[in-house]
Amino acid sequence: MTAQLLDGKLISEEIISAVRTRVDARVADGHRAPALAVVLVGDDPASAVYVRNKKKACERAGFRSISHELPSSLTEAELLALVERLNHDPEVDGILVQLPLPKQIDQERVIEAIDPRKDVDGFHPYNFGRLALRMPLLRPCTPYGVMVMLEKTGVDLVGKDAVVIGASNIVGRPAGLELLQARSTVTICHSRTVALADKVRAADVVVAGVGIPNFVKGDWIKPGAIVIDVGINRLPDGKLCGDVEFETARQRAGWITPVPGGVGPMTIAMLMQNTFDASVNLNP
Ligand code: NAD
Repeated sequence: MTAQLLDGKLISEEIISAVRTRVDARVADGHRAPALAVVLVGDDPASAVYVRNKKKACERAGFRSISHELPSSLTEAELLALVERLNHDPEVDGILVQLPLPKQIDQERVIEAIDPRKDVDGFHPYNFGRLALRMPLLRPCTPYGVMVMLEKTGVDLVGKDAVVIGASNIVGRPAGLELLQARSTVTICHSRTVALADKVRAADVVVAGVGIPNFVKGDWIKPGAIVIDVGINRLPDGKLCGDVEFETARQRAGWITPVPGGVGPMTIAMLMQNTFDASVNLNP
């Protein structure tokens, strides 16, 4: 069996253009376009690329993006003051503080300072708690994108065995909560998990967010399983690859996501969706 490819680029374009249609309709009704404030601290090249892609997506969605590019010497107090200003700015619907932040700044403190209604990354404990309590509002973008891709397979997730590899706050943990919400039976694995390969072998759905190239071997995949590879790893030759051994896994899986062109673009599309939803909630 060769897996069907879940094309994140295509699905993300569909989502952004559906958002665009709704933005145009609201603007025609006299509302202002949604606005996303993007805050970049320091000069990490990977972060600069992510921020550039997010701003480009804003253009495609018909949003205004407001850029704050700040030096790596910025203090925590200065960043908290900016967040506070953006929280109170009626022209701003979404606040995105690009992570990671320089080491003098406490990341959690900054995330908690964002008004949960403008927390379009879905990282604030309020939004995370809503997801855990089955009342999701602004959902963390990457796992949200994973769920949209799973939906595209048309496979009913109810009662399926889902294995999530990785338990980080931005990928594995919320992906586990999303799958639980979809009524799958969820196992969240991490660096201390024993007999990981056996768990993956039994899984109908595998979500990998580990950060180790080709970590999940193709022969671990149950025939017909859905494989969602969240990993984005740069190899010494400069090429990107996922956490799953793609060529061997695709011989066994029913569906699989490529890297690049899988979950990456979906994360940005869900950021656009969240910003639109935040804007509608703030300006009904
Ligand atoms: P992280 O380092 O915060 O978390 C990695 C997780 O993997 C941890 O829970 C750790 O316990 C687990 N892990 C490490 N070694 C393991 C092992 N041997 N066996 C089982 N579990 C193990 O990373 P993260 O921020 O969650 O990112 C994970 C990957 O996803 C990275 O490649 C990152 O680039 C990628 N990522 C992609 C997107 C996207 O938009 N597609 C978004 C965020 C992160």
